[in-house]
Amino acid sequence: MELKIEGLIPDFVAEDFFPARLTIENGRIKSIEKLEVAPGTLPFILPGLIDSHVHIESSMLVPSEFARLAVVHGTIATISDPHEIANVCGLEGVEYMINNGKQVPFKFYFGAPSCVPATEFETAGANLDVASIKALLTRPEIKYLSEMMNFPGVLGQDIEVLEKIKAAKDLHKPIDGHAPGLRGEVAQRYIDAGITTDHECFSREEALDKLQRGMNIIIREGSAAKNFDALIDLLETYPDQMMFCSDDKHPDSLVDGHINQLCARAVARGISIFKVLKAACLNPVHHYQLQVGLLKIGDPADFIVVDNLKKFKVKQTFINGVLVAQNGKSNIKSIESEVINHFKIRPIKLSDLEFLPPSPAPENLQVIEALDGQLITNKIEISTTHLIDAQERLNSNVEKIF
Ligand SMILES: [Zn+2]
Repeated sequence: MELKIEGLIPDFVAEDFFPARLTIENGRIKSIEKLEVAPGTLPFILPGLIDSHVHIESSMLVPSEFARLAVVHGTIATISDPHEIANVCGLEGVEYMINNGKQVPFKFYFGAPSCVPATEFETAGANLDVASIKALLTRPEIKYLSEMMNFPGVLGQDIEVLEKIKAAKDLHKPIDGHAPGLRGEVAQRYIDAGITTDHECFSREEALDKLQRGMNIIIREGSAAKNFDALIDLLETYPDQMMFCSDDKHPDSLVDGHINQLCARAVARGISIFKVLKAACLNPVHHYQLQVGLLKIGDPADFIVVDNLKKFKVKQTFINGVLVAQNGKSNIKSIESEVINHFKIRPIKLSDLEFLPPSPAPENLQVIEALDGQLITNKIEISTTHLIDAQERLNSNVEKIF
């Protein structure tokens, strides 16, 4: 079946748009004909948007449902680390994510979760050892080794960590990083181990340091951590080394928007649309070698149609030539999903959470300070007089403390 669509198409070399008619056949772009139509009368046709690091599990949706919502906002693909489900269900969980995702027209690219369990202090449901990681990485569906959180293990040359990294290198698959706050010479050692991305930067200086050392920085703006404002201006200078991600995206905010919102915010900051599209579309396709089209003849017909580049409201989303969303409505149907895990717990009573301080109570207690909009925390000391209530229980009471 042949489909024709007209619009303004980006030319990334000339940094301009030109009016054109796309012909799509069998899911691919068959031709791109230039038109003599004055710009302004046509909508924009852009490559589809990509979330370059997201744990689908944090949306509390199965992959097929995540896709159903995300396509409405022009997202056509995700680089997804199935770390959270692997932590509970092991390889079976990773398998589940892949199989469920395959049932809908959306491009999920999963990684092999490098750190399950995330720390040795966790009571995780599984342990993905080197053999499991190798088995995953050899699969064509697994595009990369995901989120090497154990950066102390990388720096300390932990044998198992190094073997996992080597397995990815042997297969020429990229290795994603996770090294909040790491800078200078230690950051260089982490990069030298073969790790090519980081999505944990929370300050401009840290991101700049890593960019200058050749790392790709993924700007994270999700439901948990928000680093867009701190990092976005770096896109002006490093348009070939940056991408966008949400990391954790809760369902209430996925309903409102996705990577399209970050594009609109970047354009509003005065950043060239071509640089914004590099971060949102081109860079992830090149870095992870995705089978995602970029509006070239012969490419899979993956693209979006938007009326203007200010609001980035997506009118239509096409994946492999199929119209998957139009005017805020998804064409992806909900599918029946099997259940592989049950979470059974008795109701939690208040007394289960009570904590009585040792007697006599120490003068100070070590406390974790949570920072709004950040995943990093501070270690502080608080006088117990602020923490013990009338019933002699230990309580966190932010009003009393700060
Ligand atoms: Zn993550």
